[in-house]
Amino acid sequence: NAFSTLNLKPELVANLATLGYESMTPIQSQSLPPILEGKDVIAQGKTGSGKTAAFGLGLLEHLNVKRFRVQSLVLCPTRELADQVAKEIRKLARSIHNIKVLTLCGGMPFGPQIGSLEHGAHIIVGTPGRIEEHVRKGFLSLDDLNLLVLDEADRMLEMGFQDSLDAIVDAAPAKRQTLLFSATYPKQIESVASRIMFQPVMVKV
Ligand code: AMP
Repeated sequence: NAFSTLNLKPELVANLATLGYESMTPIQSQSLPPILEGKDVIAQGKTGSGKTAAFGLGLLEHLNVKRFRVQSLVLCPTRELADQVAKEIRKLARSIHNIKVLTLCGGMPFGPQIGSLEHGAHIIVGTPGRIEEHVRKGFLSLDDLNLLVLDEADRMLEMGFQDSLDAIVDAAPAKRQTLLFSATYPKQIESVASRIMFQPVMVKV
């Protein structure tokens, strides 16, 4: 269950050791192999399972830092979760220089977010409503997106983010990888997954 058994960039593996991540959690050992192969993955696991590092390592492995475009987008139900996810991704990315992770959440002033978007980012983490608004108003382009993550998808739907999610997916390239994390797997999630994912691998821990 060592991270070194995966095909990760050596600098990512070295950083995991400095973080004290010695072995993979169950959700990581089951989801990382298909994630690194570029497959769509639906993973059922709770907070505390290590799910953030599962998709965080996937997006960092696939990222090209020299290409200063939004390549990964992580959607979260709340600002608190988005801040937590961004913090974990920055920790995992410590060995990659000049990587820019930007959070875009509702309830925060809009203007400064436009300024941040003008400066550019590789990875965006945020809540669906605000991200949809930036896309619709032309401040955020998803043309170079290759990885979309829905974190706590069940909570996002419960909070009424379905329309924002649909609009974001419509603005994203069809050729992309999509990862969906959810504590529960109700019919509504199954139906979203069947619309926005391609032959997903199912992981349950
Ligand atoms: P999460 O479920 O993503 O909220 O992660 C729960 C906590 O576990 C976070 O504080 C992570 O930093 C930590 N964590 C994630 N993966 C590992 C690992 N393989 N070994 C040790 N700690 C981890």
